[in-house]
Amino acid sequence: MSKCVICGNQDFRREEVEEIFHIDDHYVLVEHIPATVCVQCGEKTFTAETTEGIRKMLRERRPPSRSVAMDVFAY
Ligand SMILES: [Zn+2]
Repeated sequence: MSKCVICGNQDFRREEVEEIFHIDDHYVLVEHIPATVCVQCGEKTFTAETTEGIRKMLRERRPPSRSVAMDVFAY
C-alpha cells in the first residue's frame, strides 16, 4: 500500500483530473488525466506511464481540443 508523500495518508481514489503544464513559453491545460488522488489532502499522483504519455502528446504539438482564456493572479 502506498502512502501520500504530502500527508502520509493511505487512502486514495481513482479520478480524472486536469493539470496545467508549462511548455516552453506557454501554459497548457490537460483534461481527463487518470490520477490517484489522496482523499485527505487532494495530492494528485500520476503513473510514470501517464506522465510520459502526456509529455509525448505535448511534444507532438497537436492542435488542442479547445482553448480557454485564463486569468492570472500574482500572490
Ligand atoms: Zn495526502
